[in-house]
Amino acid sequence: MSSARTPYQRFIKNLKSTMDMLKLSPAEKKLFLEPQHSHEKTITMTMDDGKNKSFPAFRVQYNNARGPYKGGIRYHPLADKDEVMALAALMAIKTAVVGIPMGGAKGGIQCDPKVLSKRELQELSRAYVRAFQEHLGPDIDIPAPDVNTTPAIMAWMRDEYEKRTGTYAPAMITGKPLSYDGSRGRDTATARGGFFILQELIEGEALDSKNLRVVVQGFGNAGAVMAHFLHDAGYTVVAVSDSHGGIYSPDGIDPVRIEKYKNKTGTVAGEYCRGSVCDTQKMKMDGIRQVSNEELLELPCDILIPAALDNVITEKNAKNIKAKIILELANGPTSPEADEILQKRKIKVIPDVLANAGGVTVSYFEWTQGRSGEQWTDAHVDAELKRVILTAYKDVRREVHRDKVSYRQAAFIVGVRRIVEAMRVRGWVE
Ligand code: NAD
Repeated sequence: MSSARTPYQRFIKNLKSTMDMLKLSPAEKKLFLEPQHSHEKTITMTMDDGKNKSFPAFRVQYNNARGPYKGGIRYHPLADKDEVMALAALMAIKTAVVGIPMGGAKGGIQCDPKVLSKRELQELSRAYVRAFQEHLGPDIDIPAPDVNTTPAIMAWMRDEYEKRTGTYAPAMITGKPLSYDGSRGRDTATARGGFFILQELIEGEALDSKNLRVVVQGFGNAGAVMAHFLHDAGYTVVAVSDSHGGIYSPDGIDPVRIEKYKNKTGTVAGEYCRGSVCDTQKMKMDGIRQVSNEELLELPCDILIPAALDNVITEKNAKNIKAKIILELANGPTSPEADEILQKRKIKVIPDVLANAGGVTVSYFEWTQGRSGEQWTDAHVDAELKRVILTAYKDVRREVHRDKVSYRQAAFIVGVRRIVEAMRVRGWVE
């Protein structure tokens, strides 16, 4: 089977080899191979034009052996049950790798949020909570933002839940606006967690950020924030991209400038191009070249950071990748076949379940603040995030050296072992 596998099949391939390594019993394996609950509803609502429209909606609760289910809600035209299941399973591994007392879940609505009005978006979000209300709650399942969902959407969802249940429940959802019981540092947490790991990794290898070139795919919440951290720390960010394509400059680009034009024009190439028409003279003067998202992955660099889509590094391009380190801020960007090629080529891949776990870690901090009524400072959030994420990194690295496995295999070993231990303690398995 090639990388035409579905997201869930890709997850299962990684999971099966881990379960074999850990010599799990057939009963233990069975509990891992399927989600505990997979809820599916159709949301029908009246659109602004007066017509009714239906949207498939999902909430997959993969495993709660270690604590309440936790995971974001994605709004995307291609969101489907298989994808949501894979993301829910990754969440279960991720929360276990960073050692926070939560399980794994994920949600999704198959929709194109870009064509919805604000009223429609709000109605759809509130309808999602009504559809799955009995399965949600601060001690049961705590959603969060994911691709195309925002703090404003989290606020509508909390409000709907509180109205329906007649409770005060700031801890029923995370990623809320700061003014509505959100946590400081949540907006930058995913990139910051990845950045802490990268710094630790390069220090361990006696590398200097001043000599390292980085390519970042995706200029959203994860990718753009990461580009800023890297630039500020002296790395040379040589290329960035968004869904319209990328720009490359061997001498480095300034994320602040890119962001300014992206906000104004909607694309990272906005300073030079309007649609497909580009000011080639200005690009030449600034040493900038346009690149496709495929080309971007194969550019000369030391560190590659996929921060957009899944399954972008495959057996087709893995052999052409020049980076020596890949830090997966996106979920599932590397196919299992590509992973094998990269491992043979001794390219270090810091896997999603570790590299982007800063997001769920600060979500957990938000949940604890919601339950206690406390408000943490930026410094406290940062210090705690650093402690949690670097402890996880060291736990995984220990496994890499002990078992001579890749970082992904090591992270899966750490995560699966912790979940199995919790299942045994609870008496779910012998
Ligand atoms: P986002 O919507 O804020 O940004 C996504 C970026 O990817 C945008 O710049 C978009 O233009 C770009 N993009 C879309 N299609 C593309 C394509 N074909 N090629 C290149 N770029 C493309 O989303 P985000 O929150 O930054 O999430 C990005 C990835 O990181 C996802 O895989 C998500 O699951 C993962 N992630 C995010 C968080 C978080 O806290 N934001 C946490 C964990 C994992």
